[in-house]
Amino acid sequence: MPNIASTLTGARRLHAGHTALRYADRSLTYADLDDAVRRFASALLSSDLRPGDRVAVFAKNCPEYVITMYGVFAAGMVVVPVNAKLAGPELAVVLEDSGARLLVHDTASAALVAGAADAGVRTLEIGAAFDRFLAGGSADQPVADVPDDAVAWLFYTSGTTGRPKGAMLTHRNLTAMTWLELADVCDYRADDVALHVTPLSHGGGLYLLGAIARGSTNLIYSGSSFVPGEVLRLIERERVTVIAFLAPTMIVMLLEADAETGADTSSLRRAVYGGAPMHLDSARRMVDRFGAVFVQIYGQGESPMTITYLDLSEGPVDDDRLISAGVPHPGVQVAVLDPDDRPLPLGATGEICVRGDTVMSGYLGNPAATETTLRNGWLHTGDVGRFDEHGRLTLLDRSKDVIISGGTNIYPREVEDALLLHAGVREVVVFGEPDDVWGESVTAAVVREDGADVPADELIDWCRTRIAGFKKPKRVVFLDELPTNAYGKVLRREVRDRLTRTSSA
Ligand code: AMP
Repeated sequence: MPNIASTLTGARRLHAGHTALRYADRSLTYADLDDAVRRFASALLSSDLRPGDRVAVFAKNCPEYVITMYGVFAAGMVVVPVNAKLAGPELAVVLEDSGARLLVHDTASAALVAGAADAGVRTLEIGAAFDRFLAGGSADQPVADVPDDAVAWLFYTSGTTGRPKGAMLTHRNLTAMTWLELADVCDYRADDVALHVTPLSHGGGLYLLGAIARGSTNLIYSGSSFVPGEVLRLIERERVTVIAFLAPTMIVMLLEADAETGADTSSLRRAVYGGAPMHLDSARRMVDRFGAVFVQIYGQGESPMTITYLDLSEGPVDDDRLISAGVPHPGVQVAVLDPDDRPLPLGATGEICVRGDTVMSGYLGNPAATETTLRNGWLHTGDVGRFDEHGRLTLLDRSKDVIISGGTNIYPREVEDALLLHAGVREVVVFGEPDDVWGESVTAAVVREDGADVPADELIDWCRTRIAGFKKPKRVVFLDELPTNAYGKVLRREVRDRLTRTSSA
């Protein structure tokens, strides 16, 4: 099986002197990056680590992150990118679960990794120690051949609930993902300037693979958090052509900062977004402002970034398309199944299940979870959706978030969409609360627009005219902001747990 790191070797052959990475005032050519990656792989293999061993990375985005990722691949080892926002005990869970032997970290997280050494995990700090480690390796190290189905990346679930699980992504998975990305999402070229603003530990890192395979210049955003005005100015200054990935909340932030910044973003030819639902009015504003340069992706760690895609540059940007998650990638089989894994008729709502080369081989050391998630040959995504007659998939919700009131399913997203059409509503999360009569009742947690003091009754009446009466919220609670996880996803279940009353009052 070709090692995914061989895509960098190929890019170096064609583009040795071309800039591969830029970060603040640092710049690495493809030759620099490939040399560093080989040195890192060589240094790993000269230690007591062996192919198949796990190497964790706990750092904010930086060039060493990329060197570590590719170096670990090239050595035939397994990279374990850990969300840099995790707390010490959460990091410890991932280290233990993955059995990592080495932890590469940045200076900012030095205090948090102190426990790793006690647990027998060696640490390597980015900076002088990392540079010494590289200097000890050889730039002639060949990229290791890997066995069929060798694991390349342990992808830890983003942890909105429960103990994290490590999805085993193989070289085959990453290769399939990369070619589908290049074919359907972004046809990266050497003259592209690709901006990466999301954590490399998640989709951001996965999306680097295609851009590097094609020899593009990758601009790694060096801000400590996403500052929308800064990002807009960066696009203008650097003539960015592709934004590798944006969470919907980031797009909303860019739109809000835009009036003040007034940046020229006409260099953009592609921008990828997804990973969470985007509401129709924001999607519409996004296209009105930046043009139909967007491609939405729907995926999950278990089928990395690759289930369906929606290319807005193709065809009309009508509401039906904007609210859908697009069509399956070729070679990725996507079906809507009933609870017994039988296919449902077109238009019916059920669990979205996936089969193909992008689907993980399982969760490390967790046969029970693997068996449940991969049963009957299908990846069960836990997402609920339906196909329309054009073959487009519309996502409704996570199956665990569906509200069942009076025996009828209510998808929170439909209620949220109705509320978001009200001018006084900025953000909303809808969830079910226990109800003595109905089983569950609908509650909305709303963040109002600045200065809007729209009352709960008005919002409930508003819904009455837009969605079926049984779906309208029984209770509306106002919050100043909604909690999000480290990747910007709204934590619906955290809101629910915080606000839920034990029985209907
Ligand atoms: P993660 O594994 O952390 O990337 O989370 C994956 C989950 O995010 C999916 O199972 C979906 O519930 C959600 N998700 C991903 N992409 C989209 C999208 N384009 N629209 C709506 N939800 C999405």
